Amino acid sequence: MRDPMFTLTAGPTQTWPSVQAAMSGPIVYDYDPVFLERFARTERKVAELFRTSGDVVLMQGEAVLGLEAAARALVRPGMTAINLVSGVYAKWFGLWLAEYGANLVEVEVPYDEHVDPALVRQALADHPDAGLVAVVHSETPSGVLNPLREIAAIVRDHGALMVADVVSSLGGEELDFDGWGLDLCVAGPQKCLAGPPGMSLCAISDRCWDAIRDNPSAPRGSFLSLLDWKDRWIDGGRTAFPYTPSVVEVAGVEAACDVVLEMGLGRSIAIHRRAARAVREGVLAMGLELWARDAEFATSCVTSVRVPDGCDCLGTLAHIRERYGVMLSPGYGEIKERLFRLGHQGPGAASLNPVVALAALGRGLVDQEVPVRVGDGVEAALEVLFEDPAEVSS
Ligand SMILES: *Cc1c(COP(=O)(O)O)cnc(C)c1O
Repeated sequence: MRDPMFTLTAGPTQTWPSVQAAMSGPIVYDYDPVFLERFARTERKVAELFRTSGDVVLMQGEAVLGLEAAARALVRPGMTAINLVSGVYAKWFGLWLAEYGANLVEVEVPYDEHVDPALVRQALADHPDAGLVAVVHSETPSGVLNPLREIAAIVRDHGALMVADVVSSLGGEELDFDGWGLDLCVAGPQKCLAGPPGMSLCAISDRCWDAIRDNPSAPRGSFLSLLDWKDRWIDGGRTAFPYTPSVVEVAGVEAACDVVLEMGLGRSIAIHRRAARAVREGVLAMGLELWARDAEFATSCVTSVRVPDGCDCLGTLAHIRERYGVMLSPGYGEIKERLFRLGHQGPGAASLNPVVALAALGRGLVDQEVPVRVGDGVEAALEVLFEDPAEVSS
């Protein structure tokens, strides 16, 4: 089979050409001053995207590493941890919290709904001793966006630590680490930033570092250790790493940050929003149904579409890949075969790529004898994209 012409998946997503170019440059290792400077510079760029003046830790492994490291660092056996669950990634985070000894309180909503801040207020009233609250900002598997700003304000007032999986929202959704009073966030470069998939971008508040230092269970001398990075790299004057960093990935992450910072973070978010709106309008005009119950809480990085009754989800996607060279995604986890997911991240959100994703899904369904109005969908999407014609080239 040939390489796909378009990778418009739920992520990892296609990268920018400048990211690919950066990753094929000369390999410079961590003991070289050029790399030390590049790493520190990349940290500052990631901090700018998080909108924090505090520490950023760039861990050397896909975002699951950062999430697992966060759970490991924060949980003290017996502490009460509230986990807000609106999808499979949150569920997974809860498994770590429990495994490391937390008294786990889960506030779970159906996977096509967002977490209402009132539920958080109630959970904290019921469990006033809770030391942390965890949430997934943008649940990529279900396409639902949680109101992180409002949730964080409640958690902050209560005094618990606010931990958020922002893997798929950094660069594509409004996010203000310092302004919203967040304590620990983990992002991935391979979603809206359209970078390579091998790193965890973590932002950590000062009071969160204090909590980690006070936790005798927080690992040290471990690949999962945030403290190793703090002590050896950050507080050690940024001259030595706990272990050899993934040097090629770092070059790619810096290039990905540069794309967003050069276009402007606000513009990047606006482009992702516009793409998501175009795809949602297109899906509805085709006669299909969205997965997220409330479009106001649909995430900007991906649009989830309900698989029509009697339609074979995986068969349809394989057909679309083979016939049209377009990679789209099924659902994930328990809801894998109940949804199609159309990604609009990085280049996938730009230009006419959202229309390509829509047309591919529509044509693929027609080929499977599912009656959809492909043309209506494309028209509706174009209308959204052309609301501001000056912007559509990006
Ligand atoms: C992509 C993603 C992750 C990381 O998961 P992978 O499947 O390893 O890429 C974690 N959380 C969220 C919300 C994500 O979108």
